[in-house]
Amino acid sequence: MSLNLPTPAVALAIGAHPDDVEFGCGATLAKWAAAGCVVHHLICTDGSKGSWDPSADVDELVRTRQEEQRAAARALGATGQQVFLGHVDGELASGLAERREVARWIRVLQPTVVLGHDPWKRYRLHPDHRHAGLLAVEGVVAARDPHFFPDLGLPHHRPDELLLFEADEADHVEDVDGFVAAKLAALLSHTSQLRSTMGIEDDADDEARAAQRAAFEQHVRDSLAERGALAGVAQGESFARMSPAS
Ligand SMILES: [Zn+2]
Repeated sequence: MSLNLPTPAVALAIGAHPDDVEFGCGATLAKWAAAGCVVHHLICTDGSKGSWDPSADVDELVRTRQEEQRAAARALGATGQQVFLGHVDGELASGLAERREVARWIRVLQPTVVLGHDPWKRYRLHPDHRHAGLLAVEGVVAARDPHFFPDLGLPHHRPDELLLFEADEADHVEDVDGFVAAKLAALLSHTSQLRSTMGIEDDADDEARAAQRAAFEQHVRDSLAERGALAGVAQGESFARMSPAS
């Protein structure tokens, strides 16, 4: 188990949907941003399935989720870009065209560290998370060598590290003590997702909402404590660490 990378100059976090990055590595990004790292988000889908309300206006939901993602990035202290690839939620593929898009952004943004979903997490239900994970891995491979996608007209770029969150077999921990509040603030910025992913109901009375919010925050803290314990720290986010050189 390795602990703490040196603070990267530039980090690029790739998520399937708005809010995935905050769940997967928000506290790590907040820590790095506070130390001067430029943090970028690349969100693969439009988040248009992220409502339990059958009558929700889908175009409005997409716009709302982009605004929420920008607010979440601000809550993390991220100063980079929030890039939205805009693929339809639930229909993300990981073919050559999508790989080319991700490789292009890696070449444009030139991250020192790329973070993404672990595509090999067992018994994962959501296909977008699997495809977004594959795109992070395969996008790095395509971005790093000059003969991949030469038509992009961009110099190749090799990140130093690739960290996979939601790791099936974690072998790296980032100590995030002091950055849990930023992660929680970023998660709670995804207001449209409070009910479906955080168990906080819009129509509950104030007291019930406060209790639901406290339960969600405790769940996040407990999870970070569990991961931190893997490396003997109080609060941690865990990853599978891959070397882009291999
Ligand atoms: Zn997701």
